[in-house]
Amino acid sequence: MISTSPKTVFLGLGSNIEPRKSYLDSAIAKLKLLENVIDVTCSRIYETKPLGNSLNNYLNMAVKLSVKDLEPLGFLRDINSIEVSLGRIRKEKWGDRTIDIDILMWDTEIIREKDLTVPHPEMTKRLFVLDPLMDLDPHWVHPVEKRTISEIWKNIKGEK
Ligand code: ATP
Ligand code: CA
Ligand code: CA
Repeated sequence: MISTSPKTVFLGLGSNIEPRKSYLDSAIAKLKLLENVIDVTCSRIYETKPLGNSLNNYLNMAVKLSVKDLEPLGFLRDINSIEVSLGRIRKEKWGDRTIDIDILMWDTEIIREKDLTVPHPEMTKRLFVLDPLMDLDPHWVHPVEKRTISEIWKNIKGEK
């Protein structure tokens, strides 16, 4: 395989079934074990109100990965396996879950596939994503918006 330079990937993680913190910790441990993930940096953890009908608050965080020779769709399968291994069961939209792992941004790439849209289309509206991204890399430029995380965060904060 042709070796390419490392890419920066941002993920959003959430859990609203106890033990929430353990599910986040386990997901991170499993991400670190993936062969092509060479570095993992974690944000702080934020407690947030759920979307949809649930009454169970989330713990949310973001992680910044450095990855090498990894394809987004292959990685989507990897994170799906991690979700399943941690007991994720998909029922109704935004239903309670042990762990949710979303790909927020894949370096500077814009991906529009049937099963994968990157940057995650909702990320610019969600403080539970933007707050942890502010911990990790406020100067990172959103490849579609062409604005920094900090600019997007300030805009949303101003509206709320
Ligand atoms: P939301 O997308 O609003 O955060 P959700 O995370 O609860 O909702 P899921 O049921 O976890 O939604 O995922 C539904 C599908 O979204 C997945 O099967 C996956 O193929 C697709 N998907 C599209 N773009 C992404 C992305 N950037 N990261 C993760 N999954 C994605
Ligand atoms: Ca999600
Ligand atoms: Ca998801």
